[in-house]
Amino acid sequence: MCIASCMRTSKLSVSGPTVNSKAALKKPYVILISLDGFRWDYVERFAPPHLSTFIKNGVGAESLIPSFPSKTFPNHYTIATGMYPDNHGIIDNTFYSYEKEATYSISNRAMVQDGSFYGGSPIWVQADKADVVSASYFFVGSEADVQGRRPTYYFPYDHNIKNEVRVKQTLDWLTLPAKKRPHIITLYFSDMDDIGHRFGPNNDEELGKTLLALDNNLGDLFAGVDATGLPVNIIIVSDHGMTEIKNTDLIPIEKIEEDSLYSIANDGAMVHVYPKDNVPVDAIYHFLQEKELHFKVYKTENAPGFEYKPMNKNWGAIQIIPDYGYYFSTLIQIELKKKNPTAVFGVHGYDTDHKDMHGIFYAKGPAFKKGVTIPSVKNIHVYPLMCEILDLEVPNNIDGTIDQLENVLNSSPHKTSKD
Ligand code: AMP
Ligand code: ZN
Ligand code: ZN
Repeated sequence: MCIASCMRTSKLSVSGPTVNSKAALKKPYVILISLDGFRWDYVERFAPPHLSTFIKNGVGAESLIPSFPSKTFPNHYTIATGMYPDNHGIIDNTFYSYEKEATYSISNRAMVQDGSFYGGSPIWVQADKADVVSASYFFVGSEADVQGRRPTYYFPYDHNIKNEVRVKQTLDWLTLPAKKRPHIITLYFSDMDDIGHRFGPNNDEELGKTLLALDNNLGDLFAGVDATGLPVNIIIVSDHGMTEIKNTDLIPIEKIEEDSLYSIANDGAMVHVYPKDNVPVDAIYHFLQEKELHFKVYKTENAPGFEYKPMNKNWGAIQIIPDYGYYFSTLIQIELKKKNPTAVFGVHGYDTDHKDMHGIFYAKGPAFKKGVTIPSVKNIHVYPLMCEILDLEVPNNIDGTIDQLENVLNSSPHKTSKD
């Protein structure tokens, strides 16, 4: 069933069980907020007032370590599922799928909404299985029919929906009658990624302005949540950080294309190479090695950056990885960038050994201790933390574990509910 919402163009959809079970009614609430591209050091650099107070009264990690590659789709879906990209299947923003014989791309709406690309049990699916109402004002995977399930309430992604609208809808969800009120809500804001790409992460003026506006949206959300009096736990994460590069340090992707030997997918900080039928991998490897200039060629099993031995066939047999500070792009894009008056801009996607790639983890609410800071932690561990708070079963095939984050929790987080 789909009902029209009062919002600009965006259409609220309703799926799955729309009422909480008796057990679900006793659970606390979790709001998972992703601030795309929010680098680990922005709070210290810009001291946003609402977020800084939030952290002071809650917990924070030195940084949230993304999974490789440090791109938006693989990492959001890792946060949602507790699995490495290799395991959940959304290995990059763009990749070739051998099973589907098609190239997945985040700009292809049909693919973004096709649940058969998405492995694992995202937190809203896990909630749905336990008859817990869930809602999403955007999150990677939330519009896809993963295992035939979606959040109870969700919206098709629309970059142009104002932050104020997202915040208001979240507060409206929290004031629904208890039976219909979601216990897990995801929210997504792209502002810091947008501005970071445009000006690079070192432009204090532009980043500071954007962050202050975003902080006001968060302040409205925090105040609204407090006013409900409900036991709401807010977890704020980002998918990756950002680093500055010069527009002279772009490598044309056309330089490495060779349709007779292989096809490629993706550009940026990692290019995936898929050999054509009957072309030996070694031949392609040597062919590409000859071209190495500000990039290196690896057979996938030897590629740096992976936290594990990559097993997913969809990576392709070979990876082309630019040196840190270089980035693949199309000739058209490079020309456009060169015309831009700012000679630098921001990118991400690199090996997470580079701290610029790290994001954030902050949390506050009745489940969390106060004033605790922990060392950097991997983003695979956020999912079991949410399962613990909501007392949901943790699937046994995930990569994260609760022991990495349980020290931020009060002893029995799921025993709090007001109604
Ligand atoms: P990137 O910086 O290239 O890794 O990707 C960031 C972009 O992903 C943002 O500018 C968003 O527009 C886009 N994006 C984020 N979430 C979604 C979503 N759920 N569906 C489609 N696009 C999204
Ligand atoms: Zn991102
Ligand atoms: Zn980005």
